[in-house]
Amino acid sequence: MFKRFFKGGVAVPYEKNTANCETIKMDVPKKVIIPMLQHIGAPCKPCVAKGDVVKVGQVIGDSDEFISAPVHSSVSGTVTSVEPLLYPGGVFVNSVVIETDGKQEIFEKIAPPRISNTKDFIKAIRESGLVGLGGAGFPAHVKLSVPPGKKIDTLIINAAECEPYITSDYREIIENSWNVIGGINTVMEFLNIEKVIIGIEDNKPEAIHEMTKVADTSDRISVMKLKSRYPQGAEKMLIYATTGRKVPPGKLPADVGVIVMNVNSVSFVAEYAKTGMPLIKKRVTIDGGAVNKPCNVEVPIGTSLKDVFDFCGGFKETPKKVLMGGPMMGIAQFSLETSVVKHTNALLAFTEEESNLPPEGPCIRCGRCVRACPMNLLPLKLSKSSLRENIEELNKYHVNDCIECGSCSYVCPSKIHLVQSIRLGKAQIRAAMKGGK
Ligand code: SF4
Ligand code: SF4
Repeated sequence: MFKRFFKGGVAVPYEKNTANCETIKMDVPKKVIIPMLQHIGAPCKPCVAKGDVVKVGQVIGDSDEFISAPVHSSVSGTVTSVEPLLYPGGVFVNSVVIETDGKQEIFEKIAPPRISNTKDFIKAIRESGLVGLGGAGFPAHVKLSVPPGKKIDTLIINAAECEPYITSDYREIIENSWNVIGGINTVMEFLNIEKVIIGIEDNKPEAIHEMTKVADTSDRISVMKLKSRYPQGAEKMLIYATTGRKVPPGKLPADVGVIVMNVNSVSFVAEYAKTGMPLIKKRVTIDGGAVNKPCNVEVPIGTSLKDVFDFCGGFKETPKKVLMGGPMMGIAQFSLETSVVKHTNALLAFTEEESNLPPEGPCIRCGRCVRACPMNLLPLKLSKSSLRENIEELNKYHVNDCIECGSCSYVCPSKIHLVQSIRLGKAQIRAAMKGGK
């Protein structure tokens, strides 16, 4: 029996076709495009220029802002341009383009960080360039900087991986469980955290078995089996399922005494502590009916989507839709020239048949969207307020509490694009705030 479970959510099909695909390492591409914004927060300023020779792990962009993370070169080679280029989200972002030399020479200054206290630890995490690897891309040093007066007693490791298709977190547990434990121990030590709960959905029994085996070495680390229901991996849902604590609207996990880290992020902490090599590569799940060989592949950050798909055997047929991320929260890509960024965990290419969405119909007031919403919102009202550009109503119905999980759109029998219009509503609020309305 499960102790706690959130209201709403949806049962999504189990499409983890790549669960048994051991991670393969991609060859270094001829060129990488590394965007200066790969996280939530301020973009980095490039610190290299056209003609510069760079090495693996070298900083190529940084920022003075707190909510930001430095960007490093994933390859050795020569910078051929620094210019605004298309970013996975469909906008243009200043990017460093590097022609690789194939030598993969390591930057001379790469060395394990010296960490003896919390301050050193936070500094090292910032220098590593780590951002939340589960898909959100929040700078890790910000998340791990506990605000004064707050006490964190529990570290929650998010290994729920509730999106269909994606198996990147699962593979980390199967392939690197000791690194996961190593990273957990480092975070516990330097943030003085008493206990750790690793949350894994019950549809991944092998991951639960593997993690339980290694977690048994410590009485402060436990594995919790979670009910498989989307969006179990959303931060607020996970905190409730594992601790019973509810994060109030507008508050952060630290306000209820917890920090949540993705399983790949915590494993990276162990790797970084050992080697000092910053975040320059990413495991990406490749799947969807249009791809030849679904797989898990380790990719240098900045590799174009086209090069990744080509490495994975190319397409069976021209994909109708390519997503970065899962089918519930992923972002559709207009071009295969965009590149893999730090928080890319999947690239899915779907056939025409898989992508066909029936046209929107009228709302039949069935209430399914309301029942599916894990945040207790009124999705239809939010969507309507957004389409009317009614800022007052959007605020009244708490649009900013929406976690954009897509559960409402998923269950709507009339196929109304609820989450898209809700996202638009959030953008309207941001614009109104900037305009001082
Ligand atoms: S309104 Fe937001 S939080 Fe609620 S189901 Fe829709 S997308 Fe998810
Ligand atoms: S699920 Fe769709 S049809 Fe049903 S109430 Fe919500 S918007 Fe209307």
